[in-house]
Amino acid sequence: MALKINLGESGRVPCPECKERIHRDAKKCPHCQSDLTLNPEWVKQSSAPGCAAMICVAGLVLAVLVLA
Ligand SMILES: [Zn+2]
Repeated sequence: MALKINLGESGRVPCPECKERIHRDAKKCPHCQSDLTLNPEWVKQSSAPGCAAMICVAGLVLAVLVLA
Protein backbone atom coordinates (compact mmCIF):
# COMPACT_ATOMS: atom_id res chain seq x y z
CA MET A 1 0.00 0.00 0.00
CA ALA A 2 1.79 3.05 -1.31
CA LEU A 3 0.13 5.56 1.02
CA LYS A 4 1.57 3.78 4.04
CA ILE A 5 5.05 4.89 2.96
CA ASN A 6 4.05 8.48 3.68
CA LEU A 7 3.37 7.59 7.31
CA GLY A 8 6.18 5.09 7.70
CA GLU A 9 8.84 7.51 8.93
CA SER A 10 8.02 7.03 12.61
CA GLY A 11 4.86 9.10 12.48
CA ARG A 12 6.32 12.00 10.52
CA VAL A 13 4.19 13.84 8.00
CA PRO A 14 4.77 16.91 5.80
CA CYS A 15 4.16 20.28 7.45
CA PRO A 16 1.02 21.86 5.93
CA GLU A 17 2.93 25.12 5.51
CA CYS A 18 6.52 24.33 4.45
CA LYS A 19 6.18 20.59 3.58
CA GLU A 20 9.15 19.63 5.75
CA ARG A 21 8.55 16.35 7.55
CA ILE A 22 7.61 16.85 11.17
CA HIS A 23 6.03 14.76 13.89
CA ARG A 24 2.32 14.36 13.33
CA ASP A 25 1.61 15.34 16.94
CA ALA A 26 3.69 18.53 16.73
CA LYS A 27 2.00 21.70 17.90
CA LYS A 28 4.49 23.95 16.13
CA CYS A 29 6.63 23.37 13.06
CA PRO A 30 10.35 23.45 13.92
CA HIS A 31 11.17 24.51 10.34
CA CYS A 32 8.80 27.37 9.53
CA GLN A 33 7.64 28.08 13.11
CA SER A 34 3.99 27.81 12.04
CA ASP A 35 1.54 27.42 14.90
CA LEU A 36 -0.06 24.17 13.78
CA THR A 37 -2.84 24.42 16.37
CA LEU A 38 -4.25 27.18 14.17
CA ASN A 39 -4.37 24.91 11.11
CA PRO A 40 -7.78 23.13 10.99
CA GLU A 41 -6.56 20.35 8.72
CA TRP A 42 -3.54 19.67 10.91
CA VAL A 43 -5.60 19.62 14.11
CA LYS A 44 -8.07 17.27 12.44
CA GLN A 45 -5.42 14.76 11.33
CA SER A 46 -3.37 14.91 14.53
CA SER A 47 -6.32 14.55 16.88
CA ALA A 48 -8.12 11.76 15.04
CA PRO A 49 -7.36 8.35 16.55
CA GLY A 50 -5.63 5.37 14.89
CA CYS A 51 -7.26 4.10 11.71
CA ALA A 52 -9.47 7.15 11.40
CA ALA A 53 -6.38 9.36 11.27
CA MET A 54 -4.84 7.08 8.68
CA ILE A 55 -7.91 7.31 6.45
CA CYS A 56 -8.14 11.04 7.03
CA VAL A 57 -4.49 11.63 6.11
CA ALA A 58 -4.81 9.35 3.10
CA GLY A 59 -7.78 11.42 1.97
CA LEU A 60 -5.81 14.64 2.41
CA VAL A 61 -2.85 13.21 0.50
CA LEU A 62 -5.14 12.12 -2.32
CA ALA A 63 -6.78 15.55 -2.36
CA VAL A 64 -3.39 17.25 -2.54
CA LEU A 65 -2.27 14.93 -5.34
CA VAL A 66 -5.46 15.56 -7.30
CA LEU A 67 -5.33 19.31 -6.82
CA ALA A 68 -1.58 19.66 -7.40
ZN1 LIG B 1 6.61 24.04 8.49
